[in-house]
Amino acid sequence: MAPHEFCGVVGVSLPGRGAAPYLYRGLRALQHRGQESAGIATSSHGKLHTRKGMGLVHEVFTAESLGSLRGSLGIGHVRYSTTGGSGIENAQPLALKLREEDAALAHNGDLVNFERVRRRLQAQGVEFLGSADSETMAQMISVEYARTRDLEAAIRRARHELIGGYAVVLVVGHRVIAFRDPLGIRPLVLGELDGGHCVASESVAVELMGGRLLRDVAPGEIVTLERNGEVRTSPGATNGETAHCMFEWVYFSRPDSVAEGQPIYNARTRIGERLAREAPATADLVIPVPDSSRPQALGFSSVSGIPYAEGLIKNRFVERTFILPDQKRREEEVRVKLHPVPGIIQGKRVVLIDDSIVRGTTLREIVAMVRAAGAVQVDVRIGCPPIVAPCYFGVDMKERRELVAAGRTEEEVAKVVGADSVHYLSIAGLVDALSMKAERLCLGCLTARYPVEVPVERQRFQKSLEEF
Ligand code: SF4
Repeated sequence: MAPHEFCGVVGVSLPGRGAAPYLYRGLRALQHRGQESAGIATSSHGKLHTRKGMGLVHEVFTAESLGSLRGSLGIGHVRYSTTGGSGIENAQPLALKLREEDAALAHNGDLVNFERVRRRLQAQGVEFLGSADSETMAQMISVEYARTRDLEAAIRRARHELIGGYAVVLVVGHRVIAFRDPLGIRPLVLGELDGGHCVASESVAVELMGGRLLRDVAPGEIVTLERNGEVRTSPGATNGETAHCMFEWVYFSRPDSVAEGQPIYNARTRIGERLAREAPATADLVIPVPDSSRPQALGFSSVSGIPYAEGLIKNRFVERTFILPDQKRREEEVRVKLHPVPGIIQGKRVVLIDDSIVRGTTLREIVAMVRAAGAVQVDVRIGCPPIVAPCYFGVDMKERRELVAAGRTEEEVAKVVGADSVHYLSIAGLVDALSMKAERLCLGCLTARYPVEVPVERQRFQKSLEEF
């Protein structure tokens, strides 16, 4: 089972309409990207209204609190912390001053070098309230804006200095500004919405707000949603290289989203088809680990001819297992969250399909419960190549020693998770299934070569897959 989601952002400008109900709907569509805290900041006549809290979107906002968020433009955020603590002080949007104007910023992703930049800003007398890297970005933009008096120039300058993967929304005065890191590691899309425009981490949020997807925001591009509903864009000074996070297609994005022109559901189905060709199995049933592995399992089933079955049922009312403090309780929680269907599994040889393996602890529990339900053979097929290196760009995989595939063969991983066999999709197979060139993707956690400079890691922008 894959790592925890990171964050989701949304921004709207809707002349003559209240922004808050749209932002609320957009955030609910992005709830899978962060369930720790949620927040909305709107702007009305240059005055900022902010509400944020711990919990799910519908727990944080009431009809009354949404009514108090006045203004036709604003931004929203759902968070799962990858840097900084998980307290309310790090919930977003973060308030900041841009010269004399009130502003708020929300951010998805991680900055690799934020501690160094933060120390430099502190040495200049800038005070910090929380520990999240978003605050470093906010302060950096604020300092640069005070110096240059040109907000776009300030953003470009901050972007030059801040290394990492990020998508940012900012509301200030009478506009919403959105931008993406120069390689487009983290996703951001632009949509048309009720006479105005919107941006969001995923296309599904645009559609569930009632809008229409226009396109992806280009890597490095700065998009400004004006109060009158028009959009201004400023292309990024990039060399055309991109490094889109492959995990968006493997696991993070909702299956009903489209990223970089590639529908997520179709990519996942192709992953399953490719997996069945690369790592066939002799079995009676193909069973997905719900929910995110269903398209992969359907693809595997269609190519292998092995019947697909819903052998594991997910309890939809158990969420947020990650907040449980210790591993034992997390493992117990897996058993509450997923339950096998004995009538389906009893006496069968099962191919269990999962989207990815990070630590392997959840999968071990699942394999054990499938065996306990009567499976006579459990072969595991994984729709992602082995994750052997940390992510530094906003995904909760920080330690090599936690990664079950780091330094282990497939046979050794099978022993760890208690399966009869484990096979992963190859990197070439993944790239092929995503219908994108390898050099357009970030594959850092699979290859230990990163698209930007990361201390103690090797940097190499992959030009081919030959050596992987
Ligand atoms: S290192 Fe892996 S998870 Fe992190 S951005 Fe790159 S592909 Fe995505």
